[in-house]
Amino acid sequence: MDVKQAVNMAKKELYLFENPTLEAEWLVALSLGKKRAEVHGDYELTKGEERMLIKNIKKRAEGCPLEYVVGTANFYGYELKVNKNVLIPRPETEQLAEEVISEAKVAHKILDIGTGSGAIAIAVKKQTNAEVVAVDVSGKALRVAKHNAKLHNADIKFIKSNLFSKLAGQQFDIIVSNPPYVTNAEYAHLDRTVKDYEPKLALYGGGDGLDFYRKIILDAPKHLKNGGKIFFEIGYSQASEVKKLLKNHFKDIVIKKDLEGQDRMVIAAKGD
Ligand code: SAM
Ligand code: GLN
Repeated sequence: MDVKQAVNMAKKELYLFENPTLEAEWLVALSLGKKRAEVHGDYELTKGEERMLIKNIKKRAEGCPLEYVVGTANFYGYELKVNKNVLIPRPETEQLAEEVISEAKVAHKILDIGTGSGAIAIAVKKQTNAEVVAVDVSGKALRVAKHNAKLHNADIKFIKSNLFSKLAGQQFDIIVSNPPYVTNAEYAHLDRTVKDYEPKLALYGGGDGLDFYRKIILDAPKHLKNGGKIFFEIGYSQASEVKKLLKNHFKDIVIKKDLEGQDRMVIAAKGD
């Protein structure tokens, strides 16, 4: 089988997906250990490459996210390794990173809570001069994040920590977090391609999805310098609840929408 035939075979198997040609080309390239642009139509696949291709097509056809099959995802222009231990970084989270980057032009020390693949921490470190600390409770996620930071030559301090547990005495100019925020009810109805593949630890935010906001907001003031700010990603229906949680100890609370017009971020400054 040559590359052209392989792409056609993959296309047929993936006809239900939005962009079968693109996906087929990705999977063929992956099976050859090459980038898409490096693959030529008349190359004959070895038996091993054919087997690998069939395995990858099967995974994808069963619903595994393309990023997990390929093993990479793009975030803010950076190619990141991803596997089942980390959430695939979402496009709306790039907006959160963008907000932090604009603010970080004047900030010096930034904490990313629940760094997962390292997406936010890496984008912020590469785009600013800030000192970046990133924590996650999952050692397996941190392995991926460290790999990604090295790949992009981003000097980030990674700490295995349950929220602030290993950060006693440390203060930051900015705390950013895209915590797990999916509610019980939402979790039960999540798309299979998310629920069956992405880590529950990265998604599930307790009964009402707000557990992590409660805990982070409680401890954040003592880990923020005066004038410091907190940046959260939130679920589309959580803005008013998160605002309520912030009110006692934070001021200048701003809600921002994602590109689809849904409430997606909350930014607030430490109160006096
Ligand atoms: N920051 C990444 C992003 O935006 O793509 C990943 C966000 S994911 C929604 C949430 C992350 O929080 C996961 O990596 C998960 O392992 C981590 N996490 C869950 N519970 C935690 C805890 N108690 N302390 C620290 N991190 C936690
Ligand atoms: N946006 C994710 C989803 O698509 C949820 C991410 C999170 O819980 N922080 O389900």
